[in-house]
Amino acid sequence: MADNEYGPDFDISIPTIARVYDAILGGKDNFQADREGADAYMKHVPNSREVAVDNRAGLVKGVAYMAKHGIDQFLDIGAGLPTMQNTHQVAQKINPETKVCYVDNDPIVLRQGQALLATNDSTTIVTADLRDPQSILNHPEVNKVIDFTRPIGLMVVGLFMHFHDEENPGDWVKALLDACPSGSYLLMTDFADTGEEQQKAIEKAGLEALGNGWVRKPEKILANFHGLPLVPPGLEWVSRWFPGEPDREVPAAEDLAPHHRIMMAGLGYKA
Ligand code: SAM
Repeated sequence: MADNEYGPDFDISIPTIARVYDAILGGKDNFQADREGADAYMKHVPNSREVAVDNRAGLVKGVAYMAKHGIDQFLDIGAGLPTMQNTHQVAQKINPETKVCYVDNDPIVLRQGQALLATNDSTTIVTADLRDPQSILNHPEVNKVIDFTRPIGLMVVGLFMHFHDEENPGDWVKALLDACPSGSYLLMTDFADTGEEQQKAIEKAGLEALGNGWVRKPEKILANFHGLPLVPPGLEWVSRWFPGEPDREVPAAEDLAPHHRIMMAGLGYKA
């Protein structure tokens, strides 16, 4: 166990998803082991940073769509370390009354998040685990901010690839969705497997860096929306995904650089 300012139970010699992602994005909230994890990603997929940036852009597009369509409370699972254009900043720019509850299972996210959010009483962050949906649904802080009788923007962005299908992670999302009333949305991004080399490479990187980070066939990604209709254009490569703008001119999928064909996004609507 490494000695550090976070206390004896906090082992900085083991990389975490949040901090490796932060290191890939060029952030400063990471340790040597996390930077080595980021290096593994760069080794296998030299454009890993752009993959992460694609994913963040997907988050921003999805949140902006929901906020413009009346969603004024967001439950952002797997929030990550604060970076540019966080959910509350994107949504509150559109509707300053918006409430945001961030959830993450990494205690450093709570610590850094609290520092960032201290001045904002519509926004909170809690430590809880998607693997235990009831720990989220019954959390008193979550219930202070989120009203489960009104439509919710449920977000599972940049997280699902870290769970293997053998764990049935779709069941956890289903439990959360069941608690959200009609009018709610589910925003998800995930690593896709359409048989391309760069997709296998990012899986290899994740397994080397973190021991997880699998790709999924698009039909498996879709299955995790549990039959919700998707806002057009449906499930798409995130760099050509503009929810609610199916007629927008975007590059053909085959014209995208290979690393832009790793991350897919979709936005489901609970009628
Ligand atoms: N959502 C942000 C984004 O897309 O930019 C951050 C994505 S980051 C790659 C994934 C986040 O999920 C990390 O902060 C990690 O700590 C968190 N996470 C991992 N497993 C989790 C779990 N079982 N429950 C809740 N959060 C989890």
